[in-house]
Amino acid sequence: MKKGIVAIVGRPNVGKSSLFNRIIREKKSIVEDTPGVTRDRIYGTAEWLTREFIVIDTGGITLEDQPFAKEIKVQAEIAMEEADVIVFLLNHQEGLSDEDKMIAKILYKTKKPIVLAVNKYDKKTSNFDQYEYMSLGFGEPILISATHGIGTGDLLDDIIHQMPSNDEINKDNRTRVSIIGRPNVGKSSLVNSLIGEERMIVSDIPGTTLDAVDSVVKVNNIEYTLIDTAGIRKKSKIFQNVEKYSYLRSLTTINGSDVVLLMLDASVPISDLDTNIGGLAFEERKPIIIIANKWDLVENKEKEILKKEDEIRAYFKYLAYAKILFVSAHDKTRITKIFTAVEDIRTALDKKIKTSVFNEVLNKAQLINPAPNFNGGRLKIYYGAQVEAYLPTFVLFVNNPDYVHFSYKRFLENQIRLQFGFEGVPMSIIFRERK
Ligand code: GDP
Ligand code: GDP
Repeated sequence: MKKGIVAIVGRPNVGKSSLFNRIIREKKSIVEDTPGVTRDRIYGTAEWLTREFIVIDTGGITLEDQPFAKEIKVQAEIAMEEADVIVFLLNHQEGLSDEDKMIAKILYKTKKPIVLAVNKYDKKTSNFDQYEYMSLGFGEPILISATHGIGTGDLLDDIIHQMPSNDEINKDNRTRVSIIGRPNVGKSSLVNSLIGEERMIVSDIPGTTLDAVDSVVKVNNIEYTLIDTAGIRKKSKIFQNVEKYSYLRSLTTINGSDVVLLMLDASVPISDLDTNIGGLAFEERKPIIIIANKWDLVENKEKEILKKEDEIRAYFKYLAYAKILFVSAHDKTRITKIFTAVEDIRTALDKKIKTSVFNEVLNKAQLINPAPNFNGGRLKIYYGAQVEAYLPTFVLFVNNPDYVHFSYKRFLENQIRLQFGFEGVPMSIIFRERK
């Protein structure tokens, strides 16, 4: 499930990051409360009227040694490229400025919905001239105060109202597979090898459903949409040197995919850059397959494979659920296995466990490993069931959710995986007190 994306644009100091922080659900960390550091957080998840969406603070996308006009232009263009709804923010304390008009001019080029908001409207002022703001041509502004939380509910209502429906956002009915990884691990090579395979066809599908860089491949008679972040980087020349943008692009690409292929270069040690990128996919709660590429370069393969697996598992502890495949994009070795793994994930996502069988497993798990004393009591699980959700989600009814130790939760998760599969997909276990 792809989430809708909202981008906030506006000249410096209008209150973009204040609004961003008010909208996103995550609590700010202490680090981000330090002046000057707030800028680093430019992407967050939010929820309003039961719809989840992503918010981008384009003010955080900065260019070095570039004139202000260029920076603003790039920010607005990135918003137009990535977002489903654009919030154009003005500052009531300063009124309409030439810079605002300059931004407006850039935004005229997009057909995407634009919500005009005037910030720092802290108290009713007599000199408010609505028509001045309306002269921009984006309709009536919504008056808000990001720091006081005035009007932000109305703004969010309007954002949700203007946002395309989930069905529209997810209208590609193929499984969308993205390839992420640090530069040079072989992402483009894999795409090329897949596209080059004789029994796969590629169609350049024009129109709005697919990004220009998406390609469709057919493997075992099933079509997949491939999303290659490397290709995206090569395509958007103007953004090439904007470091924050490639980070943002990785995130929006992950958001737009059903399955993420996290590619590593298996012929060299794993680096921090690899783990950072893997962390993004994990945080977005996506099904993941780890692709250890360039396996052709490794000697003593049989001995090395175990070592490499240990290394990968040690670096990506949080991705314990992800399958690891050793491939060579170059020699095309085992690359179709990737799609077998993708199909396994699709099967896992569709899996429905019978409640009676699930409870047998729960009981057995508690018998072989009773919960430890924690937080002043011992957890007792009465019963549980899988509930309807995109990712496998289980609700367990217990004597007291406070007694759940995270290691016991992990034990239960492992037992469920062991008994029922669910390879490659994140899973949720929710503890509820039995009334
Ligand atoms: P950005 O540069 O557009 O991201 O703006 P910031 O969010 O960093 O805000 C710039 C300044 O305006 C900060 O000092 C904020 O505290 C202040 N500010 C933001 N929103 C409001 C508001 O609604 N009312 C008032 N009075 N100040 C605000
Ligand atoms: P990207 O930046 O992740 O898209 O990486 P590229 O696909 O551009 O590959 C980077 C380099 O690694 C190129 O020189 C490729 O030829 C090479 N390469 C990619 N895959 C393999 C592989 O499986 N084996 C070997 N030996 N080289 C590879």
